[in-house]
Amino acid sequence: MNFDLTDDQQRVSDLVREFADRVVAPVAAKHDAEHSFPYEVVSQMADLGLFGLPFPTELGGQGKDYFTLCLAVEQLGRVDQSVGVTLEAGVGLGAMPVFRRGTDAQREEWMPQLASGRALAGFGLTEADAGSDAAGTKTTAELIDGEWVINGTKQFITNSGTDITRLVTITAVTGESTRADGSIKKELSAILVPTPIAGFTVEPSYDKVGWHASDTHPLTLRDVRVPEANLLGERGRGFANFVQTLDEGRIAVAALATGAAQGCLDESVRYAKSRNVFGRSIGSNQFISFKIARMQARVHTARLAYYDAARRMHAGVPFKAQASIAKMVAGEAAMDNARDATQIFGGYGFLNENPVARQYRDSKILEIGEGTTEVQLMVIARDLGFA
Ligand SMILES: Cc1cc2nc3c(=O)[nH]c(=O)nc-3n(C[C@H](O)[C@H](O)[C@H](O)COP(=O)(O)OP(=O)(O)OC[C@H]3O[C@@H](n4cnc5c(N)ncnc54)[C@H](O)[C@@H]3O)c2cc1C
Repeated sequence: MNFDLTDDQQRVSDLVREFADRVVAPVAAKHDAEHSFPYEVVSQMADLGLFGLPFPTELGGQGKDYFTLCLAVEQLGRVDQSVGVTLEAGVGLGAMPVFRRGTDAQREEWMPQLASGRALAGFGLTEADAGSDAAGTKTTAELIDGEWVINGTKQFITNSGTDITRLVTITAVTGESTRADGSIKKELSAILVPTPIAGFTVEPSYDKVGWHASDTHPLTLRDVRVPEANLLGERGRGFANFVQTLDEGRIAVAALATGAAQGCLDESVRYAKSRNVFGRSIGSNQFISFKIARMQARVHTARLAYYDAARRMHAGVPFKAQASIAKMVAGEAAMDNARDATQIFGGYGFLNENPVARQYRDSKILEIGEGTTEVQLMVIARDLGFA
C-alpha cells in the first residue's frame, strides 16, 4: 500500500500545520486555563474551510476526502487536542451522519451551514446506561401526530452547547419487538434535533481532567418535538448507522492521537538538546535519547495504522478492525509519549502551562472516547473469530 501523500493532501497538511503553530498554539494554554471554547480560533478554521474538507463543493464543502480531514486533525492535535477534537467531532460525528444518511432535503438544509463551520453539530449517543454498551439507550422518541416527541438524557456530548451549536443528532428507542425467545428487542433510530428548541436543556459543562477548551455537556430532553421528517436514515437502523459513524470516527481520533504523540516528541527533542545538567545536554544520556527514540517509533506506528485504516476505507474494503487497531495504538502512543515527555521536562513538565503537561492531561481521554481500549480489543477479537 502506498502511504505517500498527494500534492493536495500535503498542501492541506502543511497549511494546517502552519495555522496550528501560528494561531492555535499561542492561545492554547489560555483557553485550557480558562476552560473557554476558542471561538476566534474556530472562526479562522471555518475561514480556511476545515469543517468542509471531506464534503462535495455542491454542499458547501472543499471537495477533498476523509483522509485529508484526518491530516488536518493530526496537525491540530500536535499543539492543542481541544481544537483538534472540536474539528473531529464537528465533522466526523456531527456533519458526517447527515452527509452519509440524510435525505436530499436534510442535506440541503444542514450541509452548507455545517460545512462552512459557522454552525456546529454534535452526536448524542452516550447515556448513563449506554456507553460501551450503546444498546442500553433509554431515551425514547414517540411518533405523535406527525412529530417525534423525545424524552431522555444524554451525557458527555461534544460540541453540544456552544454559541454556534445548531444541531444534535440523538439516538433514541423508537419502538420494541419481541424476539423468538420472548426477549424484547429495542428499535433504535437517529433523529435530528435542531438547537435551541423547547424542552432541550444543555446542562452545565463538566469539570474534566483535560480537553478543557472542548465543549462537553450532559443534555436533558423533555417532550422535545421535532417533525417526523427529522428521522435520520432508516427507522430501526440507528444502531447499525452509529456503528458505521464510530468506525470512521475512530480513524480521525487516531489521527488526533498521532498528532498529540508527535507534539510530545517534538517538544522532547527540542528540550533534550537544550537542557544542560551535569555539564551536558540531557539528550546526550542514552537513557533519554532511547526514550525519545521509542517515542518516535510510537508516532511512526500510530501514523501508519491510521493511514492504513483511512486508505482501506477509501478503497471500499473492510476497515472496521483496522480503525480499532489505529485508535488503540495511537491512543496508547499519545498517552505513553505524554508521560515520557513530562518526565523529560522534569519539574517544569509538572506545570500546567507546559504544553506537554496539557498533553498529559488531554491524552487520557484518547483511550476512552469513541470506544475505550477494551471496546477496540473486543472489535479486533471479534474480527479474529472470537465471540
Ligand atoms: C470528553 C468526552 C467527550 C465525549 N464525547 C462524546 C460525544 O460527542 N458523543 C457521545 O455519544 N459520547 C461521547 N463521549 C462518551 C464516551 O464515548 C464514553 O464515555 C465511552 O464510550 C465509554 O463509555 P462509559 O463512559 O459509559 O464507560 P463504561 O461503558 O461504563 O465502561 C467503564 C469501563 O468498563 C470497561 N468495559 C465495559 N464493558 C466491558 C467489557 N465487556 N469487557 C471489558 N471491559 C469493559 C470499559 O472499557 C471502561 O474501562 C465522550 C466522553 C468524554 C469523557
